[in-house]
Amino acid sequence: MKQVTYEGLTFEPYISRESIDARIQELGKDIMRDCAGKMPLFLCVLNGAFPFASDLFRACEGIDAEIGFIRLQSYEGTGSTGVVKQTLGLNTDIKDRTVIIVEDIVDTGNTIHRLIADLQEKQPAEIKVATLLFKPDALVRPVKPDYVGFEIPTKFIIGFGLDLNGLARNLNDIYILKED
Ligand code: IMP
Ligand code: MG
Repeated sequence: MKQVTYEGLTFEPYISRESIDARIQELGKDIMRDCAGKMPLFLCVLNGAFPFASDLFRACEGIDAEIGFIRLQSYEGTGSTGVVKQTLGLNTDIKDRTVIIVEDIVDTGNTIHRLIADLQEKQPAEIKVATLLFKPDALVRPVKPDYVGFEIPTKFIIGFGLDLNGLARNLNDIYILKED
């Protein structure tokens, strides 16, 4: 792996595809243990969570489960706008279901907090949160993800679904912004 550049910013390798794969298999086992017999609905938060959701969902092939998609947006450039816009709604009935929100990253927690509040109104049996990455020091909301791939410092990262203004989502590994 080598450095990559987007919009004049340099990023260096941070988490390898192999580590991501291995961690997702572990999370899959945890979810299958907790959710066997509940037929959970995985709710992939587009766009960033799609590679993670795809792998995590298939890491749970030992249980019956469904998947749906929702689109939210709160980032512009490398910083959170704090305003969460819901641009693609949910059309599955989640009443009395176990819902597993699948996120790429929980940063300030604004996105997930707002989404959980919206979903609660639809009276699911329970809501769990699976996130590939978690920046605990950036959190400004009382949110505790149930399944966390990696805890990371409050730095900007890209790859494996995470973008800089729409680019870099197709990188197989995760890269971190280089500071100099
Ligand atoms: P939050 O609402 O602050 O928790 O931010 C959640 C969303 O912001 C994620 O779903 C990402 O789309 C985006 N985000 C947060 N941190 C990063 C980052 O380091 N790189 C790219 N996107 C990020
Ligand atoms: Mg996102």
